[in-house]
Amino acid sequence: MEDRARALFSFGIIADVQYADIDDGMNYRGTRRRFYRNSVALLRDAVRHWEETRVSCVIQLGDAIDGYNKSRDASERALDTVMTEFEKSSADVHHVWGNHEFYNFSRDSLMASALNSAGRAGAGSDRAGSDLIADDIYAYEFSPAPKFRFVLLDAYDVSVIGRDASSEKHQQAMTLLQKHNSNADLNQPPAHEKRFVKFNGGFSAEQLQWLDAVLTLADQRQERVTVFSHLPVHPDATDSICLAWNYEELLAVLRAHKSVVIFISGHDHDGGFCTDPTGVHHVTLEGVIETHPDTSAFGTVYVYEDQMLLKGSGRTADRVLKYPREITVSE
Ligand SMILES: [Zn+2]
Repeated sequence: MEDRARALFSFGIIADVQYADIDDGMNYRGTRRRFYRNSVALLRDAVRHWEETRVSCVIQLGDAIDGYNKSRDASERALDTVMTEFEKSSADVHHVWGNHEFYNFSRDSLMASALNSAGRAGAGSDRAGSDLIADDIYAYEFSPAPKFRFVLLDAYDVSVIGRDASSEKHQQAMTLLQKHNSNADLNQPPAHEKRFVKFNGGFSAEQLQWLDAVLTLADQRQERVTVFSHLPVHPDATDSICLAWNYEELLAVLRAHKSVVIFISGHDHDGGFCTDPTGVHHVTLEGVIETHPDTSAFGTVYVYEDQMLLKGSGRTADRVLKYPREITVSE
């Protein structure tokens, strides 16, 4: 293991807290226990750990509170409970949005909520890139340290849960979903291309173009880019039912840019990992909600010149993530 004191900086990652003040239950398939009430205690432990390790920032990968809160009229209260824990972090917390955010809140109310962390991108954000994306797409980028860039994606940009039912984008998403899924319950996967379910979504052409522009600039600046998304995009890093609808298009953009080093997602509570033939590592982080109270599931990533070191806690494994390409300094 590398000497952690030598790291350039470090950051925390956590996924699928899905907090609700209800008794334990099971997942939809009845195969995994969900610890709704205890999940916030595991989040508290993670934040405490990151305070001790003095991370530069924390990335929350989506599904901070569970959809059950909505039917109990407890969405705001549950969000307050989770945010109270994140507020104990002296490092900036950046929030990605998942399907459970949209079960609880409309896109407009999320934009106005504590879960909109785009303002924290600050001076490290590249304005040229930001200007290319529409206001209703929740994606942004920033530089956590010189020569490094983080990009947060909106995986429900094209979806039926992340768009108002009266909107054109909702209609387009519904047409796409029904083309691939003929089930009456659209949360039931079709026999093939199982990812075409209501609880997934995808990336619009506009967002892909924006990402391409951000990565082009990062290539030119010889930066190392880490991309965060609620939905995984690599078939070898997740169960196929959890993939983003147009994961191939997103992968094609990632593969076209030498600046990309790591892609980190949540959503698949079992977690996953693979290294693409391009050398880019795809980490799917284990979900807190299906993590026993006796253990944990989060990561602390130590960043070096030539690699990142994922120090996993509990269910999350340690991984050495070597950068795929040498950056050759010209001129
Ligand atoms: Zn999810």
